[in-house]
Amino acid sequence: MKRLLTVSSQSDIPSSYQGTPVGLLLEYHNLGRRYEAYTTAQLLVGMCMDNRKHLRIPDNFAFIIRSGGANLRYSEFKVSYAIAVGGVRCIALLAHDQCGMVNLVSRKEQFIRGLVENAGWQPQAAEEHFHGFAPMFEIGNEINFVLGEVQRLRLRYPKILIAPLMYRMEDNRLYLIRETDVNE
Ligand SMILES: [Zn+2]
Repeated sequence: MKRLLTVSSQSDIPSSYQGTPVGLLLEYHNLGRRYEAYTTAQLLVGMCMDNRKHLRIPDNFAFIIRSGGANLRYSEFKVSYAIAVGGVRCIALLAHDQCGMVNLVSRKEQFIRGLVENAGWQPQAAEEHFHGFAPMFEIGNEINFVLGEVQRLRLRYPKILIAPLMYRMEDNRLYLIRETDVNE
């Protein structure tokens, strides 16, 4: 996976992120940095709702918005709030592998059956629900999606430092996603 940059020492963190909350996130989660005490949030993390992921970060360090596929398109007010009222100046957007929001159509039957059997929906309502919302929440390729979201958010919040990261399930570590059009 040459699109991912491994972070296993402080020197692996690009200078543009060194000393920033993004760099600190990588140090806390990947490098076991000792927790510091925070009274205010330093970072906004956008990450998937997936139950298999857990970040190693100190109390008060970050706001976290969790949504399928780390999709923040429908959470903009919360992003604005974290910046305007919460005072954060950095966002880390986390993709992950094996994401359930990739190829939703492959789980259509399971989705409909599950709503009918588990939640008591009528089959037709469940099917309409799927067709109405799957296109909004499908992310396609998880890395490309997060890179696109980072570009969108940088235009929307030009003074905010925004970093695309990847959480890999096999080792529970964070990786930086290489941005081909960004020189480091
Ligand atoms: Zn996911």
